[in-house]
Amino acid sequence: MKIHMQVMIAVGLGLKRNWHIFFGIIAGIIAGILLNGHQNTIIFNALTFVGQAFIRLIQMVVIPLVVSSVIIGIASIGDNKQLSKFGTKMVIYYGIITSMAVIIGLSLSLLVQPGQGADQYIDAQAAGEIQQQVAATIENQRENILNIVLEFLPKNPFSAIAMGDMVQILVFALIFAIALSRIGEIGRPVISFFESVFAATMKVTDWIMYFAAPGVFALTATSIASFGLDIFSSISKYLFVVTVGLAIQLFVVYPLFLKIFSKVPVFMLYAAMTEAMMVAFGTASSSATLPLTIACCEKRGISHKIASFVLPLGATLNMDGTALVQVVAVFFLAQAYGVDLTAFMILQICVLTIVASSTCAGIPGTGLITIVLVLNGLGLTPEQLIAGFALLYTMDRITDMLRTMLNVTSDAVVAAAIADNENEINYDLLNNPDSYNEVI
Ligand code: ASP
Repeated sequence: MKIHMQVMIAVGLGLKRNWHIFFGIIAGIIAGILLNGHQNTIIFNALTFVGQAFIRLIQMVVIPLVVSSVIIGIASIGDNKQLSKFGTKMVIYYGIITSMAVIIGLSLSLLVQPGQGADQYIDAQAAGEIQQQVAATIENQRENILNIVLEFLPKNPFSAIAMGDMVQILVFALIFAIALSRIGEIGRPVISFFESVFAATMKVTDWIMYFAAPGVFALTATSIASFGLDIFSSISKYLFVVTVGLAIQLFVVYPLFLKIFSKVPVFMLYAAMTEAMMVAFGTASSSATLPLTIACCEKRGISHKIASFVLPLGATLNMDGTALVQVVAVFFLAQAYGVDLTAFMILQICVLTIVASSTCAGIPGTGLITIVLVLNGLGLTPEQLIAGFALLYTMDRITDMLRTMLNVTSDAVVAAAIADNENEINYDLLNNPDSYNEVI
């Protein structure tokens, strides 16, 4: 073997696995560009297989992990006063972060008008009909919101598990866990059972993480290969707004949030979360990343008590990155179709986006599915907006990767803030990246 190849392999093996993932992403982008337009080749199909296999394996552990970690998280908090204190704080913190994301998305959309260049792709007659329809409809939103809330309640927890309905699973796990924490000793065997489930699930995750680098490489390559590069320019403003908005959230909102509500040093937290952030980017799934999010937090200073309670709930309910993208996407469509939005409609879009983002499952692409809730509020369906929607879908994977990274990071930000408030954080460990335990 040539000497430079040997050096490269040695360097590669010597690097921590998070750098392998990083190189996986870079190599995936390059391979994706090379494969663009060659979607029916053996290489593309093989990469699709590897990427999908990685996602399936990691999704396999999500439900046992969510259920067991919520149950032992709540049961280990035990005392109910403390639980409601954590719970209330968590909802407030997640609410603040998601509202900020919505405000940023809204402001940038009004400022930059991302949909304006896209009207050339929209049929004028369709646009006229949409404009009239939006102007005519706005009445039955209240009914919609009640239906949405109703859908949170599982009729049958096992069918919720079979369907992978994360919100319903969480609602059941929460109620069940609170009950377990109230029945004393008789609940102990069940709690022990879930402790074993949690430990075994984390072990399986460890094994799956050996495939993180090839998995992320394959996922990135296939998604980049699927874009037509010329469509890129038609929604470049949209991509620009989304990217700037998410960057503001990451580099301004989270640091400010941590400064106001805790003394957690933001860049230390980001250092601790590196692997989770990269895997979130590569998989575009906050549920799939959850095992790693928990591992990064717990192995680098945040207590199990907080991490096991706040992170699974966050991975399911806190989707601030998604909320930001949804707001920008709705404005993109409205501007592309020339729809005039009243102040009331804008407010309605913001509120519905908060609901729509939190009903999102932590899997790829659901952000553009639950956006239907927001459009319903305006009396529209995606079918009516088909041309505009097609544009958004083409680029969805890219924004999905970015927004998922934010969704995961903000879960850790909130967990760290609560851990700080409750003295549940080991700063000696968090502030010392050299002593970090490997998570993958
Ligand atoms: N992919 C996102 C997540 O898992 C959800 C979405 O916005 O589609 O966090």
